[in-house]
Amino acid sequence: MIKGLMQDRPLLVSTLIEHAARWHAQAEIVSRTCEGPIHRCTWGDIDRRARQAAEALTALGVRPGDRVATLAWNGYRHLELYYGVSGMGAVLHTVNPRLFPEQIEYIINHAGDRILFFDLSFVPLVERLVRAKTPLERYVLLTDREHRPPCDIPGLICHEDLIGAQPGDYRWPQFDENTASSLCYTSGTTGNPKGVLYSHRSSVLHSWAVCAADGLAVSAHETALLVVPMFHVNAWGMPYAGAMSGARLVLPGPALDGRSLYELMRDERVTLALGVPTVWLMLLQHVDGAGLRPADELCLTRVVIGGSSAPRAISERFATTFGAFVVHAWGMTEMSPVGTVCNLLPKHAGCTAEERLTIQEKQGRPVYGVDLKIVDDDGVSLAHDGKAAGHLLVRGPWITGGYYREEAGCVDEAGFFDTGDVATIDSDGYLQITDRAKDVIKSGGEWISSIALENAAIGHPAVAEAAVIAVEHEKWQERPLLIVVCRPGSTLDRETMLAFLKGRVADWWLPDDVVFVDELPHTATGKLHKLRLRQMFRDYRPPPG
Ligand code: ADP
Repeated sequence: MIKGLMQDRPLLVSTLIEHAARWHAQAEIVSRTCEGPIHRCTWGDIDRRARQAAEALTALGVRPGDRVATLAWNGYRHLELYYGVSGMGAVLHTVNPRLFPEQIEYIINHAGDRILFFDLSFVPLVERLVRAKTPLERYVLLTDREHRPPCDIPGLICHEDLIGAQPGDYRWPQFDENTASSLCYTSGTTGNPKGVLYSHRSSVLHSWAVCAADGLAVSAHETALLVVPMFHVNAWGMPYAGAMSGARLVLPGPALDGRSLYELMRDERVTLALGVPTVWLMLLQHVDGAGLRPADELCLTRVVIGGSSAPRAISERFATTFGAFVVHAWGMTEMSPVGTVCNLLPKHAGCTAEERLTIQEKQGRPVYGVDLKIVDDDGVSLAHDGKAAGHLLVRGPWITGGYYREEAGCVDEAGFFDTGDVATIDSDGYLQITDRAKDVIKSGGEWISSIALENAAIGHPAVAEAAVIAVEHEKWQERPLLIVVCRPGSTLDRETMLAFLKGRVADWWLPDDVVFVDELPHTATGKLHKLRLRQMFRDYRPPPG
């Protein structure tokens, strides 16, 4: 073999912001701020302020490799830290404020964070952290002096004072592309959260996949609303992909209710929006309640939905009421996160609306860079027939090989990581997640997909949200129990719900019972908290029948 002669330039996060500043300097970053007003700046401004942030961090004694934490919503100051911190060689640790305070303390300690940048909303949480024992040395409030509230945080400094004093002519250092750039913890639904440590190389490669036409097709033509938080897997890589492509970004700050999102979409002429199903359910409720006409008022063409399964009913509503196409995607924190994206193939050009919706129920096909397979309990690969369900294993350059500060790796001899998900793959390569391995319902030796049942139940107009868990059964070992939250003003009974499901799922999948509750528990990333549900219904026994 002979060595190629191409230049060996490191893939660094700083190259993304340099590119945006040189070639998309005027593209706008619109932020709804914690202070209230809408703030406007450009990729050019983000670049300058990121350099000022790097200078300020250097002045504070931050060294390459140090961990710098944020507790912040989606906004321009958070965005400039993405580049300022990683660009100088330090590691940006985006802490999820929705975790329990004890978990936040745990991960700040585990990460060894030295400095914390935080939004105004989190002052009480940070006052609590100050009293706890953590390695944090400095606290920076992401605002200016006028908006600083009285608070009990020693040595507190305002972000604008910190970076405003710096010239902003910092030159990004060159270093090995395998250097760590950012750190995210999984939500730790079972056990302690685990740290996933991304590298500059993995972040840049992942951005290319996000921008690719068969990925999320992000380009300079898009105005992208990032509803997915920047503390949740780097907002699915959009802060990096946005700079790579020069997309116009709209960052909604703390206001994630249906009305605020709708107004932002309308006023900022958003074309692409990204978020988990629960936020879209809230948006749809607002649209119905206020009798709005989104197809006439908005410019929305695509909605990326991931994090949990996108029910058919949501994709249908976006198509009919908004004239927008739902791009269903699957991934996880350990995968940066994008693994599969549900784009259509040329053969689907003549599909009917119903056929398209059936495809959109699937999580899509792997993007280049993600190698995946489904296997049985013995590790034997399963057929791509859309029926055989197995453990989903993945490998690739933006998939983790181990967790931060854990000695053992987390991949098998062939380099595959077990996602903990169960999936089918059809003959066109479309993956469909049927369950998390621990949520699957094992009934009489067969598996019932809780996700498929939930999505079918959501199709009933009176259902706001639905969860299915396994409950013990003497004869069948486990049987499905359906737990439903009704839409405000609607009522439903067990028999009507079961009659609706009949014909939509196999008869032997029909839940043994339906329970109605006022609300369902969620995890810090907005997913159904199945573990807590199982605990809540531990002693539940379905009626004999
Ligand atoms: P957590 O910290 O809750 O694990 P992640 O965002 O990393 O947060 O969760 C990843 C998991 O979310 C996947 O393993 C899968 O179970 C689920 N998931 C993500 N996207 C989808 C999707 N489109 N459909 C169904 N499940 C999904």
